[in-house]
Amino acid sequence: MPMYEYRCAECGREHEQLRRMSEADTKVECPHCGSQQVTRLFSTCCVGGGASGGSNAGSGGGCAPRGGFS
Ligand SMILES: [Zn+2]
Repeated sequence: MPMYEYRCAECGREHEQLRRMSEADTKVECPHCGSQQVTRLFSTCCVGGGASGGSNAGSGGGCAPRGGFS
């Protein structure tokens, strides 16, 4: 199951959840404030230019392609 990141528009905090792909866009509640104003972020892994955290460009740590790029 892939890990998705979400950011709460109410409190601005981010959290991660393991969800099925088919459930990635279903409603998520912020675990911090309970708001449902939560947007899904693209995983910072394998996606360049993420604004948040970890700037290990080129290291590729733990970010191996799983094949089947679509
Ligand atoms: Zn919140």
